[in-house]
Order: sequence, then C-alpha cells, then structure tokens
Amino acid sequence: MYYPDDSIQNIKGIGPAKAKLFQKLGLRTIGDLLQYFPRGYKDKSEITRIKDLRPDESYTIRVRISGKAHEGRTKSRLIITKLTVHDDTGKLNAVWFNNRFIKNAFEKGEEVLLHGKVKRIGKDLVMETPEYEKASVTESVNLMRITPYYPLTEGLSQKDIRKAVYAALKLVNEKLTDVFPEELRRKYGLAEINFCISNIHFPESMDKLALARRRLVFEEFFMLQSGLIHIKKVNSFGKKGICFKKTGEIKEFIENLPFKLTSAQARVFEEISKDMESSDIMNRLVQGDVGSGKTVVAALALFKCVKSGYQGIMMAPTEILAEQHMMTLTNLFKDTGIVIELLKGGMTGKEKQRILDGAKAGNIDVVIGTHAIIQDGVGFNKLGLVITDEQHRFGVRQRALLSAKGDNPDMLVMTATPIPRTLSLIVYGDLDVSIIDEMPPGRKKVETYFIDSGKKERLMNFVKKGLDEGRQAYFVCPLVEESEKLELKSAIEYSELIKNKYFRSYSVGLLHGRMKAEQKNEVMQRFRDKEIQILVSTTVIEVGVNIPNATYMIIEDADRYGMAQLHQLRGRVGRGEHQSYCILISDTKNEAAYKRLKYMTKTENGFEIAEKDLEFRGSGEILGQRQHGLPGFKLADIFRDVKLLKLSKKAVEYVYENNRLMKPEYKRMKKILDCRFQKILDEVTLN
Ligand code: ADP
Ligand code: MG
Repeated sequence: MYYPDDSIQNIKGIGPAKAKLFQKLGLRTIGDLLQYFPRGYKDKSEITRIKDLRPDESYTIRVRISGKAHEGRTKSRLIITKLTVHDDTGKLNAVWFNNRFIKNAFEKGEEVLLHGKVKRIGKDLVMETPEYEKASVTESVNLMRITPYYPLTEGLSQKDIRKAVYAALKLVNEKLTDVFPEELRRKYGLAEINFCISNIHFPESMDKLALARRRLVFEEFFMLQSGLIHIKKVNSFGKKGICFKKTGEIKEFIENLPFKLTSAQARVFEEISKDMESSDIMNRLVQGDVGSGKTVVAALALFKCVKSGYQGIMMAPTEILAEQHMMTLTNLFKDTGIVIELLKGGMTGKEKQRILDGAKAGNIDVVIGTHAIIQDGVGFNKLGLVITDEQHRFGVRQRALLSAKGDNPDMLVMTATPIPRTLSLIVYGDLDVSIIDEMPPGRKKVETYFIDSGKKERLMNFVKKGLDEGRQAYFVCPLVEESEKLELKSAIEYSELIKNKYFRSYSVGLLHGRMKAEQKNEVMQRFRDKEIQILVSTTVIEVGVNIPNATYMIIEDADRYGMAQLHQLRGRVGRGEHQSYCILISDTKNEAAYKRLKYMTKTENGFEIAEKDLEFRGSGEILGQRQHGLPGFKLADIFRDVKLLKLSKKAVEYVYENNRLMKPEYKRMKKILDCRFQKILDEVTLN
C-alpha cells in the first residue's frame, strides 16, 4: 500500500469535529497524518532520580504522589496548584498555573511520570507546569521516549496529534510499500520506508531518527528533481521551437553599443544564440551578480528575435524596473527600427488598447511590463521570446504556465540572486544555466563599513560631503514587520528625522511599499533627475534599480536582513565612476548576526556570500526547528542537506539513465511520478 487515503475519522477518537481541526493543518487522510512530520523532538527517554536533579535543566521523573494537591493564588491572581511528589531518593513540588484539572487528577500514592524544567525556589526544587502521565499507561506517546513535537493549530495539542499519528502507524502496521526498489536503497544506503515513517515520528533512538530523516529528505529531493526532468521534457518534447536566424546585423549592433561587452557577456550571449538558432525550445537561466550587465544581454536576445521576424516580451517584477528596462532598451534600440512599448498600471483604457492591438497585429516588436500585466492576457501575432527579469520570485510552476502560453516561444530567465551552484540544481533544475561571472571594467569596489549607532553623527557628516560633491544617497529605513500601517508610519517618521535632524538644507524623498506604482515612478524619476538627493526607502528599492550617481547606501538595523538581501541592497550603489560606500548600522548583540555583518565588509562577491550564508546557516542545531526549507519541502533543508542533494542528483541520473524506470522493480516509482507529473500538466493546460 502507498500512503492510505482513508479518512482520518477511521481513527478512534477522531470524529467530525476533531477532523475539522485536523483539516486546518491540511490533514484529511491517514496518509496525510503519516507524512505530517514533527518540527522537532525532545529526548524524554531517560528517567532521572530526584536527588540527581539540577536547577534549570529539563528532566523526566518517575514519582509517587505524596498527598493532596494545594490550590492558591499568585500575586497576579493566577490559580496555582501544588502537588508534592517523591521517589526513593527525595521529594519535589510540581506546580501548575490555571489548570483546574490537576487538583483531582491523581490519587495519593499513585505512580506518575512528569517531564519539565526544574527550578530552585529558596531551598526547594520545583518543577513548573510539567507534562504528566500516569505510569500505568503502557505505551506512552508523550513521555519515556524521544518525543515528537508537531506544528499545531488552535484546538489541537501535541498530545492530540501524537495520539493520532500513533494510531495511524498502528493502522498501516508496517504495510507501506516502498517507492524505492531495494536495488536503489542498497546503492544509496537508504532505510526502508516503514522503518523511516515509524522512526521519524517516534524514534527508537537518535541514530534511527537520523537514518529515517536521511532517507525521507533524500526522497523529497529525488521527487523534486524527477519532476523537473519531466517539466523539461514537456517543455521541449515533441514540440518544435523556433529557429531564429543567424543575422549579420547583430554584429553591427554589438559594435555600436556604448561599451564593449565583457567576455562573460559575450560568452553568455553566444550560449543564448545557439539555443535560439536550434529547433529545441530554449529554457535558459542567466545568473549574474547585481551590476554584471544582464540587461544588455537581454537586449541582444530581443534584437535577434525581432530581426528574425518575431516579437518579444520582457517582464519585470515591479513597475519601477519595467520602467527602467523601457528606458534602457529604448536607448539601445534607438537606431534599429525596433518598436517597443511599455504596458503599465494606471494607463488609460485607450492607451492600453492601442498597445494590445499593436501587439496582436504585430506592429509592436517588444512589449515590456510587469509579470502581472503581461500574464493578464496580451495576445501576440508571432511571439518568439519571453524574458523574465529577477525571476527568483517566481517558481517552477509559473515557469511551466508561462511557456504553455505562447506558441512554443523561447524562454530566458534572468536572476541576480546568487545561489551556490549546488542549490541552483534544485531551484532551477529544469533550466540550462549561464553565468555572467565578470563585472564590467572600471567598477570601483564598494567600500563597506559596519558601525554602531553611536557613530551616526560622524556618518552623516561623511554623507554630506558626498552630497555636496554632487552625489546621492539611499537610506534604508529601520524594518517594521508588525503591520503595513506601522511600517508606513515608521518610514515617514524616519524620513522626517533624516531631513530635520541631519539634512535640513538637502532634498529628501521617500519611497515605500504602500505607494501606488505611479507615485513610486515619480519619486524614482526625481531621484534620477537629481532633484532628490537622499532617497529614504523601505526595501522596495531592493531589486534592480540602476542610478549610477547614487553612491551611498545606508542601512539601518542591518542585522535584521539576511546576507543575500544586504548584498542586493548594496548592489544599488557602485554602478558608476565614483567611489561608493555601503554603511551597515547595527547595535546587535547576537553573535551570528555580528559575524554576518562583519563578513559583508570583507567581500562583494555574491557567490562567495551565498556560500558563506550556507555555511553560517548549516551549522545550526540538528534537532531544532526547520527554518530554511524551500516551500514544497517537508523535511529537506537545502542549506543543511547539501550532501544529500548531491547524492540524490546522482540517484536521479542513475534511474533515468538506461531507462531504468521501465524495469519491473521501478513500476511503483514510475506510477507515482507519472501521477504527480500529470498534476503539473493539468495545471498548465487549465490556464
Ligand atoms: P544587472 O546585471 O544588475 O541587471 P545592468 O544590466 O543594470 O546590471 O547593468 C549595470 C550597468 O552596467 C548599466 O549601467 C550598464 O549600462 C552597464 N554595463 C553593462 N555592461 C557593460 C559593459 N560591458 N561595459 C561597461 N558598462 C556596462
Ligand atoms: Mg537587472
């Protein structure tokens, strides 16, 4: 049996009301329950004697009730219930707050298990709000074992979920069939599925838990990568892509660019050209650090597309970026006869219609816009190329949807998110990857400093000097996460502080997430025109903005951002001929945060930063909460499980080589993959 899809109401104690609560967690079937993995564990398997207890540690104890419970009130009017317990070596008080149930729960002399943290209060040892269970319970799911902790929802306790999972395990009774044939399990050292499912929930030992986790993570990676292979096949199998022309004009166009291509740009465009000329559909990712010059590479691809008689789309994640691409491309294409239009929100219906009609009739060669606008039903006469910029915000599924739209257009994805190669295998596994690993010449290093808020006064004077020389500055506001309203308030306050306290005679502008696209564009335009000298902003400037005269990037509360985000922000400066500076302000006492910020001052290489990020995160606690899983993974954490990722990649290759999927022992795996893959296909064709 694969994971059974019988309703969880088959479990004793789960009726319609409870089932509703489980549904909130997405759990409808026995199989769902089995695959609802714990977020962490506590080892409560060892029993400690009272005389061996030390304050401030957690223990499980096996004790007898010494007498009746006492109820009282604390100063803050909570009911406090105190119960004295003992074993052969000593006695101890257990206390609970506002728990009316405890008082009558136990008889004098009864044997119970307690688990909790021990505190010393005066001379006495006290266990506060311990978990409890009668020792007469033969198979405890809560105590006397390595105990699982699950993500909860209101109305369901750890005990409820443990009980349900335990019952589900009893129901399947080790009868799950393994997706992985024995041959494969042996080759890659993978534990058997029943062992794994049982031990991931109720580990018999830490070693067994590690074995179980290893296999289940491996399986998640394996399934995802197989899925990507399938997507890749759908995207290209049996479909003929466009063969774009080899054109001489492109050479001339390149020669007339305002700068000479870096060799990395030239190489990447070469790779793109090859794809475009071939009859296979291009699915290529261009990864390049901020400022490495991806836009011009996109322009070259569009040029080639249009000169072959096709139309192209360029999509950006925000209107600001779409606007910027419009300017850059208009400039680059000015003597080429290429007709290019920008679709944006806030256009009149008439303007919009003109562009839609033009695209449909084939009078417009290139349409630029945000993802949302373009997906909203632009029709083309002869669409040949779809470029998406800063695509890291969009997932695998969206890519499949997109390519299903046109008539097999070539796809090019640009991203500035440096991901270590190992990881890009997963995140972009269905794409071929090109990397622009070289900066345009003449770039000055961005000098990065990490200061505490005590040095602000000096910092402001330093910035003033630059402004007086004609440069401009970005200030990133302190981060407010509680609500949009508060965020807005704090952004306004901060910009007023900057203006009134430090920069009275300078012009300060504000950019925040709640502004309409038009307002944002207007502010950006004024900044570009140097009307605004200081742009105070929330992180909306994060992606892609290019204003070479801005040479200061000041980030408040820098410890609140991840390294990748800091790197993105810093990438807004250092884009022109003048020396640029990035100042990270933080008073953090957190050692990890401190290390991150220090590291940021040492390198500007996005790939190195990503690797380091991986290392910093990878040293996290083994049994702690999962934090960095990609959506879609239940257990796997790409940052922690890189080794398994690589291994699973090998296994995927092994299975797909020589058509192993057709062998009888792979029948089950093939069936499951086909089924999942069909789901993706359905989504694609429905849209
Ligand atoms: P990103 O890769 O971050 O999108 P852009 O395409 O915005 O980078 O390019 C950043 C800046 O570098 C732009 O001002 C662009 O004109 C300039 N640039 C791009 N390629 C070259 C080159 N080969 N030589 C000099 N400047 C370049
Ligand atoms: Mg860009």
